[in-house]
This record gives sequence, C-alpha cells and structure tokens, in this order.
Amino acid sequence: MEFRERLLIGGRWVDAVSGAEFKTYDPATGEPLGVVADAGVADVDAAVAAAQQALVDPSWKGLRPAARARLLWKVADLIEVHADELAELETRDQGQPIGVAKTVSLSMAAEVFRYYAGWCTKIEGHTSAVSIPNTMHYTRREPVGVCALITPWNFPLMIAAWKLAPALACGNTVILKPAEQTPLTTVALARLCVEAGIPPGVVNCLTGGPEAGAALSAHPDIDKVSFTGSTEVGRKIVVAASTNFKRVTLELGGKAPSVIARDADIDDAVAGNLQGALLNSGQVCAAYTRFFVDSKRVDEFADKIAAAASALPVGPGMAPETVIGPLASPEHLAHVERLVKAGVAEGAQLVTGGARPDGGLANGNFYAPTVFSGVTDEMTIAREEIFGPVLSILSYDDAGELAERANNTEYGLAACIWTKDLTTAHNLAASIRAGSVFVNMLPFLDPAAPWGGFGASGWGREMSSNAIDEFTETKGVWVNLA
Ligand code: NAD
Repeated sequence: MEFRERLLIGGRWVDAVSGAEFKTYDPATGEPLGVVADAGVADVDAAVAAAQQALVDPSWKGLRPAARARLLWKVADLIEVHADELAELETRDQGQPIGVAKTVSLSMAAEVFRYYAGWCTKIEGHTSAVSIPNTMHYTRREPVGVCALITPWNFPLMIAAWKLAPALACGNTVILKPAEQTPLTTVALARLCVEAGIPPGVVNCLTGGPEAGAALSAHPDIDKVSFTGSTEVGRKIVVAASTNFKRVTLELGGKAPSVIARDADIDDAVAGNLQGALLNSGQVCAAYTRFFVDSKRVDEFADKIAAAASALPVGPGMAPETVIGPLASPEHLAHVERLVKAGVAEGAQLVTGGARPDGGLANGNFYAPTVFSGVTDEMTIAREEIFGPVLSILSYDDAGELAERANNTEYGLAACIWTKDLTTAHNLAASIRAGSVFVNMLPFLDPAAPWGGFGASGWGREMSSNAIDEFTETKGVWVNLA
C-alpha cells in the first residue's frame, strides 16, 4: 500500500488504541490507495486531553500574536512548497481534476492561512460606553478552547484549512477529523503544521469515520464543533453538542437556484453556469443546480448547455484534459444514479447524460454530465441535493414569482442571477434567501468574504472576520474606579 498513516495526538504519530485501520481508495480506479488508522473513542479521549493541555501550555497560550502570525504564514509557505505533491494526493484520493486541485484547493488553502496570519495581530476588544458612574468596562476576545473540526470529502484540504487557520489565529487548539473517504491531504496538512513548529497538542488529527465524529461532538471537554458536511449529520451534531452547550458552526448542504433572465447573455450564462454546476463533478455545496430560465429563452439555454455539457471530457483527475472526474465514492455514485432515475420516473426530460460513461472507465465512480429540462418545483431532483453532475432546468413566465420559487427549498447556501438589468439583479439578490448571491458570475470564494447559509444550509459563517467571531468568546471586564 502506497500510504500508511497514523493519528497525530499530542505531537506524536500513533496507531489507534484498538489497532483498527481502514483503506482509502482512488475513485478513478477503485484501487486502494492507502491505509489509515481508524480512531475510536479512546483515541478521541487522548486527543482531547492533549488539546486541553496544549491550550494552557505557555508554548501556545503564551505565544505573542505576532509569533502566532509567523507560524500561520509558515504553514502557508509549506503548503506552497509542497503544492504539486499535495495537489496530486488530493486528486488521487478525492478524484478532482488536477487543475482544480492546484488552482482551487491548494491555492485557497495557502491563501486562507495567509489571510488569518494577518488577523492574529488584529483580534481586539473595545472599551464600552457604560453609564454606571466610576466604572470602566472593556472586552477581550478569548479563544473558545478545544475545537473539533469535522470535514467532508468534496474539498478535504481546502475545507480543513478554512477551519484550521482561523481556529489557530484565535489561539484555540484543535482536533481535525477528515472524512473517511478522503483522509490523506488532511494528514499531510497536520504534518506541515508540525513542520512549521506549531507546538505539540495544538493540532491533533484523527482519521476515522462517523464513530470518531460522533464521539467528538458529544465529548464533554470539547468547546466547539466546526462542521462541514451533510444536513443529516449536522442535525446529529447539534443534538450531541447540546450536552455541554458546545459552540457549533455548521456548513451544510445546498440547492442553489440560478436565474437566467430574459435579457441575459445566454452564451455567458451557459459558460458560467456550466462551470458553476460542474466544478468537481458537481460535488460542491454551492453548485448551481436549479436553473430558472425565462420561458422565452429556455429552449436556447437547454440546447446550448446540454451540447456544452456533453462535450466535456470525463476521465481520471490525473489526466490533464479531464474536466469531469469521478465521484468520490461508489456510495455517492449510487446516490446520484438513484436521483437521476427519480428524475426520469417523475417525468423530467433527459436532454443529455443520465448514465455512466463508456470508454474504459468502468472501475471508477464516473457519471456523465446530465441535463434535465421540463423540471418542476415538486420533482425530487429539484428538491434533494444531488451533489453530482446533474443540472435541472425549470422555466418561468412571471418574474414576480421567481423569488418565491427560488426560496422553495429548505436550503439557502448560494444563488445566482444572470441578467443585464441592475434592478432585477439587486431586487432578486435582496429577496432570495441565501448566504451568498452571485450576479453574472461563478460561485467564487475568497477568505475575505463570509461563507455559510440560511436555513438547513447551516449555522454561522466561515472565513472573513466572521470566523474570528466564531472562534472566540467575548469577555467583559468591569473595573471599579471609585
Ligand atoms: P457527511 O455529513 O456524511 O460527513 C461529513 C463528516 O462528518 C465526515 O468527516 C464524517 O465522518 C463525519 N460524521 C459522520 N457521522 C457523524 C456523526 N454522527 N457525528 C459527527 N460526525 C460525523 O457529509 P459528506 O457526505 O462527507 O459531505 C457531503 C455534504 O457536505 C453535502 O451535503 C454538502 O453539501 C456538504 N458540504 C457543505 C459545504 C458548505 O460549505 N456548506 C461544503 C462542502 C460540503
């Protein structure tokens, strides 16, 4: 086996107490890629104890903000030094095209560490204008404490970085728990944190499955869970975390609407929506999936986007020409196939795709880019998160009903509007319930822009100054000046 990885607890690489391990697979071939330790409850206890100890150790607690900033900057440098090998590892473990791994996953991971390196020296309290005579009041922003960072399989390294960088900037200690399908780049990131000189116990890394995630969420000595993943698991975490009132932030699913207005430039809309829908084979929480197209333009849009989608090269992520790589796991492939069948059964018109591709890809989890038209709001494919290369085209006659239809979902992560008309753009941006609205553009992310959702898309926001708020507690200090 090419990779054999252990747990990082208190600065030491160790096997699981039980000795258990599990395999991670290359989704392009179905071949095992590595074996990693399978953390259980005893390992969770050990990691939490190490993180608690590190939280008050002078080597971390006593570190000046400027020194913390240098450590984060060093991690960013190391990510860049190892960018090519990390990108390859991400592609082989997760499946994403190597170009996406380099230009999205790796570059964002490094940038987010640089962005939060800058924040270390800018986390400030304030003096408060209290009215009680002869008193002074000021606030301090203190670390929340021990944080469990539980991540999904779609962008493993990038999402781990989104959580780890602000958590460390605020002086917390952490336990990283990557998804069991894609553990390798998170372990590599933990290794870079050690190499950067982050003190032992500050960053712990537990590879493992739902049992480890559940043990972290319920642990009485964990102060915060930052989770990205499914809405279903998000619900379980909320319940488990309630035992000791952990702080919880959740980045969950999405079902982003994309409105294509009558005046939209259809060629731009096709190009932008194609990328917005199919990046990482549609395994993107913000992926545009429900296309509300003006009925006067819907045929043109459907024909053009279907032609463009069916021309995209499908293949292993390591092949440089690949645009559509494999789905992350056979279980996820089965989920996508089930939803496509539901679309056909409920009467949506399959314009292209709807099957696994031919051509020597049988061992991998490949699925052809798929476009449905004639989709209605009630159909399963318009309601459930598919998280795959499947686009659903709905049409509208009355622009006045758009916001209501776009909001007819439990999710509210992202939305997109294609129009040349400023009034349409701003009115829809204000009335669609989504954490991020994109006008005439792809769903870009930037460390300076808050990220998160309304409703079942989660709680709280990641990135930007919002993450600093989420990873700190506010303490007020009163002083008697009489
Ligand atoms: P998942 O919820 O199955 O797993 C996510 C993580 O939770 C994994 O590490 C898993 O081991 C762990 N886990 C499983 N059961 C647990 C439990 N009971 N308690 C604690 N942890 C547990 O999600 P997934 O299938 O890996 O990821 C896909 C989902 O993630 C999609 O729904 C997608 O929309 C969502 N996602 C959201 C965002 C966002 O920013 N909103 C980003 C990426 C992915």
